[in-house]
Parts: sequence; C-alpha cells; structure tokens
Amino acid sequence: MTARSLLADRGKVTEDAPLAPLTTYRFGGRARFLVVADGEEDLGLASRLAADEGVPILVLGRGSNVVVSDSGFDGVVIRPGPGMTGWQGREDGSIVAGAGTALPMLARESARAGRGGLEFFTGIPGSVGGAVRMNAGCHGSETADWMVTARVFDLADAVARDRTPADLEMSYRHSNLTDGDFVVSATFRTVERDPAEADAVIREITRWRREHQPGGTLNAGSVFKNPPGDSAGRIIDDAGLKGLRVGAAEVSRRHANFFVAGEGATAQDVHDLVAEVRRRVLEQTGIALATEIRFVGEFTR
Ligand SMILES: Cc1cc2nc3c(=O)[nH]c(=O)nc-3n(C[C@H](O)[C@H](O)[C@H](O)COP(=O)(O)OP(=O)(O)OC[C@H]3O[C@@H](n4cnc5c(N)ncnc54)[C@H](O)[C@@H]3O)c2cc1C
Repeated sequence: MTARSLLADRGKVTEDAPLAPLTTYRFGGRARFLVVADGEEDLGLASRLAADEGVPILVLGRGSNVVVSDSGFDGVVIRPGPGMTGWQGREDGSIVAGAGTALPMLARESARAGRGGLEFFTGIPGSVGGAVRMNAGCHGSETADWMVTARVFDLADAVARDRTPADLEMSYRHSNLTDGDFVVSATFRTVERDPAEADAVIREITRWRREHQPGGTLNAGSVFKNPPGDSAGRIIDDAGLKGLRVGAAEVSRRHANFFVAGEGATAQDVHDLVAEVRRRVLEQTGIALATEIRFVGEFTR
C-alpha cells in the first residue's frame, strides 16, 4: 500500500487543506496535503508521502511564527496531533512534553503542579516543537535554559534521536533544526516552586504583555530578531515607522516589532511591509534587520 492510502485509512491526511486557521495571522493559502501525526509511524508515512509525490515538507506547530503565502504550500504539511500533545512529570522533577503541547498551558499546568521554571512560556502562543526549533524565549529565559533533551525524528532516515541544546546549537532564536527534522517531544528540568509563587510570576508576565503588546490583533509576534545589545522595536520606532502600512498590514502603534494584519490583509501585504521596513531602517541607520518570523511558500519580489 502507498503511504498516501495508509495515511488515508488512518484518517490522518487531508488533501487541499486550508492553512489559514492553523496560523495566528489567519491568512494564507492551502496545503496540497496536511498530515496530523500522532507518533513516529505517522511521521515515517508522511515523509514517504512527500517522497512519493516529489514535494517538500513543512513542519507546522501552532503557526504563531509563520507567514504562509497566499498561494499556500505545495507540499506535505505535518502537524503534531493529540498523540504528541500533553505532558507528564517524572520522579526526578523533569517534565516530558509532546511537540503539540501549547506553551501557555504547559506553563500554567506545571506551575500548578509545583514545578517551576517554565513560567516564561505563558506569553508565547506556540507549541513545544516550535519552541525547540526557534529556541523561543522571553522575560530572561529561553527554551535551551530549561531543556534537557529533545527527541528529534529525522524525516529522511526515519530515525529518532535524543538531542541536547548543545547538539542543536541553540542560541538566540536559533537551532540547527531543518525542515527534515520533526521534534516529537522535549524533556525539561524544573525546580520546586510554591504554586502560588509561580502563579504570581505568570500573572506578572500576562500583565506586562497586555500593557506592551498589541493584544487582540492578528500577528506572529516579533517580526525581526533583536540585533546584539539592541531592540528591533526601538530601532523601528526611532525610524518613525510605527503605523506604516502596506495594504491592510500595519506596523503596530503599540509595539513597533509587531506587524498586525487588519481586515482583508494578505500574506503578501505582510511580506511587502517587512521588506519596506527593512529597507527604510537600513537606509536610515545602516542596520540590516534579520527576520525572526518565517515566510512559507512563494511571494512576489
Ligand atoms: C502574540 C505573540 C507573542 C509571541 N511572543 C514570543 C516571545 O516572547 N518569544 C518568542 O521566542 N516567540 C514569541 N512568539 C513567536 C512564536 O510563538 C514562537 O516562535 C513559538 O516558539 C513558535 O511555535 P509554533 O508552534 O507556533 O511554531 P510555528 O509557527 O508553527 O513554526 C515555527 C518554526 O518551527 C518549526 N516547527 C514547529 N513545530 C515543529 C516541530 N514539532 N518540529 C520541528 N520544527 C517545528 C516550523 O517548521 C517553523 O520553522 C510570539 C508570537 C505571537 C503571535
């Protein structure tokens, strides 16, 4: 049997699947195939499907760091399903969380269980898999600080290996993971912490975010990485670019490194706004900003 029919029998594959609902920007086109994988066997089949069809693979988490092209993704998108979602505490105090686990939920639930350290995840609306790939972080912590290992499935040779932050060369918003790697789960160390104390940290992070970030808008978090020792938001603000628009995409007036999608905004609008901001910042300051958000699929210019 082909990988396609095996996945279809298991109810794991959708053809011509809309991607917009799977991203925080809520725009973008469709995927030729969407596979919701519940374990390593499904990952192997998804990888075979891509090889059989001669198309590329995109691994998607909660879509909070991506801009999917309006023409979609002509390949196989693989997302973690319920079988790769959820977490368990171990006796040694560590936590193992599946790739699809939502970071804010992991923060709250582990804190409630008296396991501290992961509170910073509360403000990051991604998944564990996305956090490992991006080395997501905020409020003085990043994923690599608390991660012991990640189980990484190599989609080319269908083998999973446990990798440390050093193996993955995790640094500021970076790891050496590629589209050929699927993070199945990650193990985090934690520290004993009074749940009330952890809850206070979570509340403070939530308060800070409400005050400083454009809540209630469609965005994908920070557009650009912070240059060493500086802040991309400050640079864009100083360049006078808050409120700059292309189509229905706008540089947030609240936080200049968040680009928000208004009614009817397209992925191309955000793409062009990013290019325009980068061009103006370079012209005015000589600083070449590097994007943190990831563009998926095809864009013009
Ligand atoms: C309002 C808002 C606030 C944010 N604040 C922060 C912040 O404070 N700090 C921060 O670091 N980020 C922040 N982000 C960005 C984003 O939430 C993080 O980068 C997050 O880690 C992305 O996770 P995701 O599951 O959404 O990944 P996606 O957006 O789905 O994917 C991001 C990248 O990870 C890869 N990926 C996803 N899952 C896996 C997997 N299982 N295995 C291998 N690769 C995978 C994708 O291929 C892609 O390259 C914010 C975003 C929003 C919308």
